[in-house]
Order: sequence, then structure tokens, then C-alpha cells
Amino acid sequence: MILVDVHAHMDFPHFSKDLKEVLGRAKNAGMAAIISQGVHHASNKKTLELGAKYPLIKSAMGLYPLNAPNVAVHKEDDDDFDRHSVSVAETLKYIKAHAAEITAIGEVGIDLAHSDDEQHQIQNFMEILRLSNAIKKPVIIHSRKAEKLILDILEDAKHERAVLHCFSGGKKLIKRAIEMKVPMTVTSNANRLQHFQMVAREVPLKQLLTETDAPYLSPVAGERNEPANVRIAVDVIAKEKALTSAEVARNIYMNYQRIF
Ligand SMILES: [Zn+2]
Repeated sequence: MILVDVHAHMDFPHFSKDLKEVLGRAKNAGMAAIISQGVHHASNKKTLELGAKYPLIKSAMGLYPLNAPNVAVHKEDDDDFDRHSVSVAETLKYIKAHAAEITAIGEVGIDLAHSDDEQHQIQNFMEILRLSNAIKKPVIIHSRKAEKLILDILEDAKHERAVLHCFSGGKKLIKRAIEMKVPMTVTSNANRLQHFQMVAREVPLKQLLTETDAPYLSPVAGERNEPANVRIAVDVIAKEKALTSAEVARNIYMNYQRIF
């Protein structure tokens, strides 16, 4: 079975000791591509190196909204985020310079769960959308408490190169994303989250992708996640749509090829 994981963080320290084994298990499971997401300048550089070293890893470079140095994060959350000193302009310039080596721009987005600084987050996101148009690469979007805002921005900007990662908006917003034809993911913890079972059911197969967000979103609560577990997302889609897993996997792979 051919699998794709369009959102994982292979540069994170969680994988520093056994990355080869993790990638070996992904390969054995049938993985064709893992899109590894950079979250700030140093993470982008490392993701690029991993992409050059391991054929299975496709690099994405981005700027996690709460890592941007110009965004004010809630005081109590500040220690949780890598508040990088490299400016937004410098970070985006580096991405542009390496555009030929990346599959997508990610992880980017807007997070109003840990920050009220809507203004700077929107400003950064708009710049990232301009970059996405300039280098013709899709953005992989994180949205928390900003699901409607993200759809509003994409619609206003008529921006079509976008994927919604781990989209937690309700049914109404999911319907809207379907109408806008924005692809979205089913996650590897969909076995225990009704929300993503609903996404698997409601969203047309042609618009679905699969991801793990490894090391996060494990199918087993509390465990480190890894790309091989993306199979769980495929199985959940198969169950919700009454198709075989092989049929779902084939379609998801076609979507991956079309979108990236
Ligand atoms: Zn992520």
C-alpha cells in the first residue's frame, strides 16, 4: 500500500536518536513521501538538510505563527514557543532562495489560542501567501481559534495553493472549505477523535490528504507518534466512506501528486 504523510516534524529532537529506524518503519509500511515541516529559521535549515539526506523526506519550510519574533504570545505560554531571533523577512528570504528544494511552505498559519496578536499574525500570513504565489508552492496551514479567519483570508486573496492541516473548525466551516476546494487532512489520531472521523466522512475523497503531525497526534494517547502511523488515517477514511484501505491510499497518493 502506498502511503503519504503530508505533515510531520522530522527535525524535532524527539527523532534525533532513532530517525533511521523511524524512516525504515515508514518505508516498510509503504511510505512514498513524508513532508517534514520547518517551524522557524533554524528548523528550516535542518529540514532542508534532512530532505537532502533522506529521499523519503520532502522538505517544507515555514514559520510557525507563534515562533515569529514580531508576534506577542500570551505571557504564560511564552516559554512553550521557540521565539526565534531571526526576523520574518530574513526567514522568508531564505525560503525563497531555496524554493527549488522544497515541496511546500509549512508550517505556517494563525493561532489565537496562545496569542491575541491578530494584527502581526495576519500581516505575517499575508506575506507568506505572497511568497507562496511568487514561488508557486502550496502553504500548509495551522489554524487554532482562527479557522474562520483563515478561510476568510484565503477567500479574499483568492489563494488556491493551500492545505488545511489538522483543521478543527466545525461542520459549517468544513462545508465552506469544501466549497472553496481547499484540501484538508485526516490525522493519525482519527481513531480516537470523532472530529476527524467526521472530516473523513464529509470531505470528498478528492480533497483529502493524510498526516501524522509526528511526534504529535499519536493514535495512542501519550505516545510519540511517527509517520508509519499515517496508515490509521487511511483506515479511518476507508471505514467512514465504506471503501477499501487500498483504494483510499491510491486516491490520497493521487491527490498528493496533484497538489504538490
Ligand atoms: Zn505541525
